[in-house]
This record gives sequence, C-alpha cells and structure tokens, in this order.
Amino acid sequence: MQHSEVLEGRADDEPTSCDVVIVGAGFAGMYMLHLARRLGLSAVVLEAAYGVGGTWFWNRYPGARCDVESMQYSYSFCEELQQEWHWTERYASQPEILAYANYVAKKFDLLRDIKFNTRVTKAAFQEEDCRWLVSTEAGMRYRAKWCVMATGCLSAAQTPDIRGLDTFKGRIYHTGNWPHEPVSLSDQNVGVIGTGSSGIQVIPELAAQAKHLYVFQRTSNFSIPARNKPMDPEYENSWKTNYAERRKRARSMPAGILCELGDTSALAVSPEQRLNEYERRWAAGGTSFTAAYSDLLRNAEANRTAAEFVREKIRTVVKRPDVADLLAPVDHPIGAKRICADTKYFETFNRENVTLVDIRSNPIHEISPDGITAGSNFHKLDSLVLATGFDAMTGALSKIDIVGREGLTLREKWRDGPNTFLGLMSSGFPNLFIVTGPGSPSVLTNVIVAIEDNVEWIADCIAHLLDVHADYIEATASAEETWMEQVRQAAEGTLYTQAKSWYLGVNIPGKPAVFMPYVGGVPAYQRICEEVAASGYKGFSIGTPTKGLHRREALLA
Ligand code: FAD
Ligand code: NAP
Repeated sequence: MQHSEVLEGRADDEPTSCDVVIVGAGFAGMYMLHLARRLGLSAVVLEAAYGVGGTWFWNRYPGARCDVESMQYSYSFCEELQQEWHWTERYASQPEILAYANYVAKKFDLLRDIKFNTRVTKAAFQEEDCRWLVSTEAGMRYRAKWCVMATGCLSAAQTPDIRGLDTFKGRIYHTGNWPHEPVSLSDQNVGVIGTGSSGIQVIPELAAQAKHLYVFQRTSNFSIPARNKPMDPEYENSWKTNYAERRKRARSMPAGILCELGDTSALAVSPEQRLNEYERRWAAGGTSFTAAYSDLLRNAEANRTAAEFVREKIRTVVKRPDVADLLAPVDHPIGAKRICADTKYFETFNRENVTLVDIRSNPIHEISPDGITAGSNFHKLDSLVLATGFDAMTGALSKIDIVGREGLTLREKWRDGPNTFLGLMSSGFPNLFIVTGPGSPSVLTNVIVAIEDNVEWIADCIAHLLDVHADYIEATASAEETWMEQVRQAAEGTLYTQAKSWYLGVNIPGKPAVFMPYVGGVPAYQRICEEVAASGYKGFSIGTPTKGLHRREALLA
C-alpha cells in the first residue's frame, strides 16, 4: 500500500492537506487513526481536549466508572494489547480507563497525528475537488478527501436552562466536564441536580464528603448494584486464555456484551422461579439484570415483574418509606432508559446528611446566589453539581457547522430528526462518515464493540474506494429513508419508546422526539453492514466525479 503524508499548509491561508481528517480522539477517533494509517493514508485527528480518551477525559467526577465489565469494555482488535493490559477491578474506574486510552495512544504511536486543544467549528464539502475543508476555532484549516466524525454520542454536556443559574455565587460543576484539579466539597452544603447514571454514581461519593447533600430529583431511575470488586486473577485469566472466542460470542449477543441471556418469557415461569432468578441476578450485580428473560423489553406485563422486584428492593434498602417511594421509579418500564449500575446508591439516602428533594412535585422555582428554591422551600448551598446529561447522539455534530453538497447543512437536513443510512453516512454529505451515529446500535451496546465494528467498516469502505479509484461515496436518499423506517419499526415493537429518555432526544428542549439508536442488536446490524459492503455498497452511490448526484430539493424532501 502506498503511504501518503500530511502536507502542512505553507502560507497562513493554505490548509493542511491529508487523506483523512478525524474529529475526536476518544476510542473511536484513536482506532480510526490506527486503521487509516494501516491503509497507508495520511490522517490527522482534531481534538478539543488536551488529551485522548473522550468520555473518560471529560467525565472525571468522583465515582465515574464503566457499567460494562472491564474485561469487555476494552478494544478487541489487538491480541497483544488485551493480553498485556491489566484491569484492577470488575468495573474500571474513570482514571484507569483514561490510563488505558493513554497507553493505547502510546503503544500505537498515535499522538504524533493528533492535534489537541483544537475544536472543529466547521466542515464544508467542496464540490469542485470533492474534498472536505475543516476549520477550527483557532482559524486552522484542514483539507481532506474523507472526513470521519468520531465526536461521540455522549460528549455534548447539557446545562439546563434554570432561572437564576448564572447568579449562583458558589461553584457549579457539570459531571460531563469535571475539573481536572482536585475538588474538595467537605464542610459544604452541596446540591446535585440529576439522578441518571452520572448522578447515581456521583451521589454516594459526594454524600461521603459533603457536610450536607441535597439531591434534587425530578425522575427516579432503576439501578442495580454493580457489586464492583477487585479483579479476580482467575477470572482475568479465564478471559485472557479465551479472549478471541469470548469476544466472538459477545458479538453474537444483542448488546455486544457476553452475559447470561434468558431465552424464555418472564411470564412462562412460576412466580417463585422468577423471584429466584431476579434474586440471583441482583446478588451477582450489574446491568445484565434485564437480560434475565427474553421479553423484559417487549412485554409490559413481563417488564412489570422485574420493575416491581427492583422497587421492592429499594423499599427494603431505604429506611424511610416516604423516601423509598420517591426513589422507586413508576413512570417508565425498567430498561427503557439506560439501566444504571451503582455502588450503595439507595443506601446513601439513609444517611443523616442527605436530603432527597422531590422537584417533580415541588419544581425548582429559581436558583439564587445562595441556593435553590424548590416549591416553597429554600435550600442554602455552597456548591452545585449538575448531573443533567447530554445532548446525545446528535449534539456534538450539531455544534459543528457541517455543510454538504449545494450548501445543505446537516442541521437543516436533520431538523425533524437525524437521517442516516446505517448510522454511518447521511445523503448530501459525500465522504463524511459518522462513527456510532444515530441509526446505529451504538448507545444500546458495549460502545467499544460498536465503535470497532463501525471503524472497521469505514476503513474497509475507504479501501474499496481506493481500489475502484472512486472520488466519492454517498448514501442514497432512498436507502436512508428505508433504513430510518427500519430503525423506527425496530423501536416500535419494544418498550423503549415508553420512556422519556435521551434515546428519544426529549431531554433537550426543542429537539425532535425521534428514537435514535437501532434496537435490532449488534448481530443483525453487523450482518446488514457486511451484506451492504459485500454487495458493492448497495444503498450508496459511488463514483467520479460528483456531478449528477441528486439535488438539494430531493435531499430535503
Ligand atoms: P467520546 O469518547 O465521546 O469522544 C469524542 C471526542 O470528540 C471527545 O474527546 C470530544 O472532545 C471530541 N469532540 C467532539 N466534538 C468536537 C469538535 N467539534 N472538535 C474537536 N473535538 C471534538 N459506554 C459503554 O459501553 N459502557 C460504559 O460503561 C459507558 N460508561 C459511560 C460513562 C459516562 C460517564 C459516559 C458519559 C458515557 C459512557 N459510555 C459507556 C459511553 C461512552 O461515551 C462510550 O463508551 C465511548 O467512550 C465513546 O467513545 P467515542 O470515541 O465514540 O466518543
Ligand atoms: P441522564 O441519564 O440524561 O440524566 C440526567 C438527569 O438530569 C435526569 O435525572 C434528569 O431528570 C435530570 N435533569 C436534566 N435536566 C434537568 C432539569 N432542568 N431540572 C431537573 N432535573 C434535570 O444523563 P447522565 O446521568 O449523564 O447519563 C447519560 C448516559 O451516559 C447514561 O444513560 C449512560 O449511557 C452514560 N453513563 C454511563 C455511566 C456508567 O454507569 N458507566 C455513568 C454515567 C453516564 P429527568 O429524567 O426528569 O429529565
């Protein structure tokens, strides 16, 4: 394979040229860079942070850790890497995952092609030469044939628009953008807004530090004890001696996670059998609780059996019945929002220094310099932690001014919800790939599996384009339409659509309510992606030059 080089622009107004520009240096961008180099391509990664790791660079809040076991939440592409890295806990903590990302960057010599502290603000397709011109906040420009958005599904932290937030005189922390210097909250009255996965992880840690912790809860969430523990050497060894085979089996599971998958209906067994099974899974810990029966996310009655079991556990753990009632979720099926894994979350509400504030019944009226008024009660606070989530799946992309053919912007195209073919490309935007984009299984899986599969598909696709000397590849509008209908139908048959979740985008004011991930599972999705590639990229137009592609009106139809 011929190797090309990055050509730095010589004059101020001359862009740096390369074959591939990759935006983002999380696990997706790092692997994309590695594979682009393997193809002999010149590639540059542009990253807003000062280091690699993406999610694990930004989310440094106390208690942050993965909810997929560390033996699985790691790259599988390199046997040597998975043999030599040692995870110290069943679920790795944020610092350990970040250390792993840095280790990978060093091992594969990635850093020399990553431009840190570089935020991309615009990416525009130049029809005349079929190149992407990518501009950064600091005014640098990069010109490349292919542009890969590895910007992450959960990388655009969402700050709520609460009256008076900007008047608060204490410090405000967002879990998704936690400071890098140590934060001490001891002897302080601390407020936390948000009880999703981030809130559930950070709350027990803050409670252990703060003088008093006020948890402002709008919606309670289901959570299963993680039962995190130091890595058992025998368990680690069993994985390391069987890694290839286990990774393969993991990829045959809907979420790309090797776990015990129940294959009967929850309603096909006796109540005693069901209870035993739920008890067994509760004791084992972890999010595979919802894999106990095959229909927990399809049948409301089956789901109620699992939900009621967890509600009962909450009532057992939490001493005050009124607090337990508030913490027991009743407004959505279990698993319809990303299920959380916790360490002593519900137990935390038995502490003297923790108060649960029900802001569903007593909404936050305003934030003032000294605290929060919820209903008619004022809570005096020294610091405020926002665990208020992300503009998921489309947020990072919509922050970039992405301009495709004929001046069409991605924001304009996705105004009623994202449209992609396979989550990988959107028509009107030739040679622009998205890793784990809307319309792919991504956030419903072990995301590293989804990343590896997408990045390998993109690399194979680029190799094919090189083989056939093609200038461009673009999803056809009809393939995209058919795929989005498949994505919609796959979700429709499940209970996922019955929760007001970020999967639907309803956590962001004004965002169209469209179920974004593909629920069909890793094996089905992967098979479809492989078939598309094997058919010579059916559903894509490939060619040279770009003239004669469908027009702007058709793209917006
Ligand atoms: P990211 O890691 O989000 O990286 C994207 C990168 O792109 C970031 O570094 C960002 O700075 C950069 N970027 C974005 N926009 C721009 C721009 N305009 N210019 C320059 N750079 C830009 N998944 C699991 O499967 N299991 C888990 O246990 C799990 N735990 C999680 C815990 C938390 C707290 C969060 C927030 C997410 C978690 N996830 C988990 C999902 C997680 O995001 C993925 O597993 C994975 O890390 C995503 O990698 P990525 O490279 O696709 O995106
Ligand atoms: P999230 O699940 O969207 O939760 C956000 C929380 O903030 C919700 O409780 C929400 O309440 C609340 N909130 C938002 N705006 C509010 C407002 N204006 N007023 C009051 N409350 C408000 O976000 P997240 O917890 O950061 O998690 C996002 C995803 O990241 C997870 O689902 C998961 O995929 C991933 N993650 C994983 C882990 C892990 O365990 N490995 C940890 C953290 C994150 P409502 O529900 O009422 O809107």
